Amino acid sequence: MQEPVDRPAHDHTAGPAAPAPSPRIDRRLFLGGVGAAATALAVGPAGAAAQAAEGPAAAALPREMQAPSALAMRTFSRIDGTPVYYWRGDRGNTTLRSWQCTDAFYDRLVLWIRDLRNLSADGGFGSVDFLVSAGFYVNRSGQHGAGTAMDLDMVRWAGGRRCSPLDRHHAEGRTLRRRYLAVDAVCRRRFRYVLDGWYNSAHHDHIHADFGGLPTTCEKGSRSDTVFVQAMCNNFMGAGLAVDGIWGSNTQTWFNRAKNRLGISGDPHSEIVAWRNMLARIARHGFSDTAI
Ligand SMILES: [Zn+2]
Repeated sequence: MQEPVDRPAHDHTAGPAAPAPSPRIDRRLFLGGVGAAATALAVGPAGAAAQAAEGPAAAALPREMQAPSALAMRTFSRIDGTPVYYWRGDRGNTTLRSWQCTDAFYDRLVLWIRDLRNLSADGGFGSVDFLVSAGFYVNRSGQHGAGTAMDLDMVRWAGGRRCSPLDRHHAEGRTLRRRYLAVDAVCRRRFRYVLDGWYNSAHHDHIHADFGGLPTTCEKGSRSDTVFVQAMCNNFMGAGLAVDGIWGSNTQTWFNRAKNRLGISGDPHSEIVAWRNMLARIARHGFSDTAI
């Protein structure tokens, strides 16, 4: 089993070519951007204001996040109408950005955010106001370099509720940990691999989701899957498992218990539908903050 080696998209320190510094954003342009974005939110993504906000005013990302024109990449500022902001180094910034990824990955992002909206709405959450990302395409080897990866920093819902990997919600109180696991589970319905705060220290401040290991099944030999299952059993069932990424007999016992309590038929280790159903039910428990 090939486990992914991933470096956060925003980590500019160890790359072979240091990127040019980000252009400073003029204060007046920044304020104008906020106004445009707020108008777009009020009008809705189909409105003319949204079209205007998607225009050339979108701020440039670091050079290493701009794909060469030879690579076929889609450029986007919103996923299915929801803005995606960049807060690394400038928290709270609502300037629209020109992100890039492949068409196939963007199409999957649309499925993902629709899952996220539906499953969180079932838990009493409002609409998704915006996302914050640390990067999609990045000029380097691996899934980011292929334009098939996302680093998710935050989800913000109308009314102010947040899930913030950026603020290490995987290590906060139980309600936030369950919400983090809900977002984590939604990522796992559509992406593989998904690397989270339990996977390693490089992912303590974002959730990485990519196309590197499709299809989306639960693999006992995968550290990324195993730490998720162990954290899920601990936070929803009080299992008390060591979150060590090793699928032993205790993990197996608690996984079976979760599967039974969630009413999952089929084999999540080999059937995509069984694992996706299980992840959806985990997400519902996470958004409603209820035990399994
Ligand atoms: Zn990543």
